[in-house]
Amino acid sequence: MSARCNCSKFQFEAPKPQMVAVCHCKSCTRSGGSIGSFNAVVTLDDVKFSKGSIAEMSSYNDSDTDSGNTIVRHFCGTCGSALFSIPEKQGEGAIGYLKVAALEDPDAYAPGANAVLFESRAPGFVRKALNWPEGVQVMARGS
Ligand SMILES: [Zn+2]
Ligand SMILES: [Zn+2]
Repeated sequence: MSARCNCSKFQFEAPKPQMVAVCHCKSCTRSGGSIGSFNAVVTLDDVKFSKGSIAEMSSYNDSDTDSGNTIVRHFCGTCGSALFSIPEKQGEGAIGYLKVAALEDPDAYAPGANAVLFESRAPGFVRKALNWPEGVQVMARGS
């Protein structure tokens, strides 16, 4: 399935995910500027780039993770779209956390029974966003 960043500097074909993992930790909310990180676990060798490469992305070594393991956050240096988080220490058959929002059809990677949810450090605003209060105002497109 095709995927890209907002400015299309990076474009690639994503393989079928091994599983879907959603993380609401402080680090994922801050780096994405949102309620968390929605990831598809993929084998990096199976990601086929038509534009750019992981090595050409901007990156940040993030050690403030829920697991305690350093992950390298890769993003487009032009538009800022988060694209991959990759565990720093791993060998053959390395895996990466592909950001599901980069997919042209992210609904296809919706979490199923094999999904994993990390919410132990979810900030209060995330908990509220996941449980919208009754009667909240819903904005229509163009309003
Ligand atoms: Zn971009
Ligand atoms: Zn996280």
